[in-house]
Amino acid sequence: MSKHDLLIIGAGLAGLRAAVEGVRQGLNVAVITKVHPVRSHSNAAQGGINAALTDRGDDWRDHALATIKGSDYLADQDAVEVMCREAGEAIIELENMGVIFSRDDDGKLGTRAFGGQKKARTYFVGAITGSALLHVLYEQSVKYDLHIYEEWFVTKLIKQDGKIAGAIAFDIKTGQMELITAKAVVLATGGAGRVFEPSTNALICTGDGLSLAMQVGAPLMDTEMIQYHPTTLAGNGILLSEAARGYGAYLINSEGDRFMEKYAPDYMELASRDVVSRAEQTEIDEGRGVDGCVYLDLRHLGKKFIEERLGYLQEVALEFRGIDLSESPIPIKPGMHYIMGGIKTDLNGATNIPGLYAAGECANVSVHGANRLGANSLLDTIVFGRRAAVNSVEYIKSFSSLEVDERELSKEKSRIQNILDRPRGMRSAELRNKMGATMTKGIGVWRDKDSIIEAMAKMKDLRGQLPNVYIENKGKVFNTDLVSYLELEFMVDVAESICHGADKRLESRGAHFRTDMKSRNDADWLKHTLVQFADEELNTTTSDVTITDWQPTERVY
Ligand SMILES: Cc1cc2nc3c(=O)[nH]c(=O)nc-3n(C[C@H](O)[C@H](O)[C@H](O)COP(=O)(O)OP(=O)(O)OC[C@H]3O[C@@H](n4cnc5c(N)ncnc54)[C@H](O)[C@@H]3O)c2cc1C
Repeated sequence: MSKHDLLIIGAGLAGLRAAVEGVRQGLNVAVITKVHPVRSHSNAAQGGINAALTDRGDDWRDHALATIKGSDYLADQDAVEVMCREAGEAIIELENMGVIFSRDDDGKLGTRAFGGQKKARTYFVGAITGSALLHVLYEQSVKYDLHIYEEWFVTKLIKQDGKIAGAIAFDIKTGQMELITAKAVVLATGGAGRVFEPSTNALICTGDGLSLAMQVGAPLMDTEMIQYHPTTLAGNGILLSEAARGYGAYLINSEGDRFMEKYAPDYMELASRDVVSRAEQTEIDEGRGVDGCVYLDLRHLGKKFIEERLGYLQEVALEFRGIDLSESPIPIKPGMHYIMGGIKTDLNGATNIPGLYAAGECANVSVHGANRLGANSLLDTIVFGRRAAVNSVEYIKSFSSLEVDERELSKEKSRIQNILDRPRGMRSAELRNKMGATMTKGIGVWRDKDSIIEAMAKMKDLRGQLPNVYIENKGKVFNTDLVSYLELEFMVDVAESICHGADKRLESRGAHFRTDMKSRNDADWLKHTLVQFADEELNTTTSDVTITDWQPTERVY
């Protein structure tokens, strides 16, 4: 049995930022990750990270207001204040650690414009911002000699006497299963995009942490808030970064009109993502699309500019569609991208379970509310990853030692063995595909009571079929068949929670647009939804939204 003060599950930006801070605070820290740290999904972020730097004439309050308006007033404003106030320091600290941010012609840190904000305050590293940040934080973790359980898969959290006491995980390379005790655990397991198909998310984004947290009694908050990104490539759903629109790319319909004039005359293509996605879907539904898509048009930017500033997009366009962006517009449509909902935490990452913290995309602090602004997620991981570790210190120091009942390990070993022993049945991919299609159909850009109820019923049915899934590979070494099945179990919890959140919220707000209830209803629904297991059934309640300085008003762009 291995013992640590602080166990961090996830080695993306939130996990590594928490880990580095934990070591700095003098804790014995370990990180567990199911893939090599730099293969975490944070690696895929291209666009950038937001901050309002005072010496650039910016003000964190403007960033906060844009974030709150973007959230359709569902974000907790005290949390937004923390994130936006700490953003400048976070960027400078990342630079000091070694992130080589792109610079402007005067040699100052360069910015680009992102959606839902009038001011350009997105800092970036070419088209590889996430990768650059992740590599630098990984270097830091090597410097601090952190213990990393690399390619280990967590199957269960251990709770003892009402408190978190560690986790059970197996080494994917060997199948060896261990009980890893820890006085506190930070969940930093990232998003759950693969509950939907297609999604811009990596195949590993299966919401494991959301389910792990629910199973020990933590609620998920605002699960119905699913972000559809306006520009995902026709066919395979690859993300085409908002940076394109930040640099002035247009959206046009089949008639060649820049249709955003009708929907967001002030912000045009840089309105919030939910607004742009709905505008595109309306054009498509009303017959002004082409094969279920509209076009992203960069031609006026010119070949030189595109290749210098948006080279990666050009590469994707050529590779997957044979399109040169300087010559032809490219077909795109809204695609599932991000889950605003997640494990409910306070401003310090603490959940309702003593010793359990969460940060990054799996958490809901809540700073994104009903719609996240582009480039606010990387910021969220850095700010709240650090805060979770700092705030675990006092709690961890209140323990002298921690004894854990080792029978937990043998129980979990037999649960997994029973799964492997199933003699026959269907493959997990079959259910995974059904789930993805069901969720996209039921909880899409538009939804209504019927679509939500249908998705919920299908997900319940799918849960019932889980025991019929058969693991063909009975081996111990790199049993990805088993890993996929365990991920499917996690995803079913998340999918059902999303349906319950969507069913509960009887209004339209941000990304949750119900065609049967088209208005925002602040009188009844300026509230968070909370989904939680109660006696093995999902139960949904609500809680109040924290408003500080910014009273909700009509949201126009
Ligand atoms: C294509 C794409 C582009 C994006 N671009 C931007 C952008 O430009 N700006 C922005 O702000 N945001 C962007 N986002 C969103 C942002 O990248 C993510 O929200 C953020 O990086 C998530 O970081 P994280 O640390 O929470 O999780 P991740 O980076 O996803 O890491 C999750 C970690 O958890 C581990 N893990 C999960 N389950 C288990 C388990 N069962 N056992 C062990 N380990 C486990 C994984 O191995 C991994 O290390 C983008 C997202 C995508 C998909």
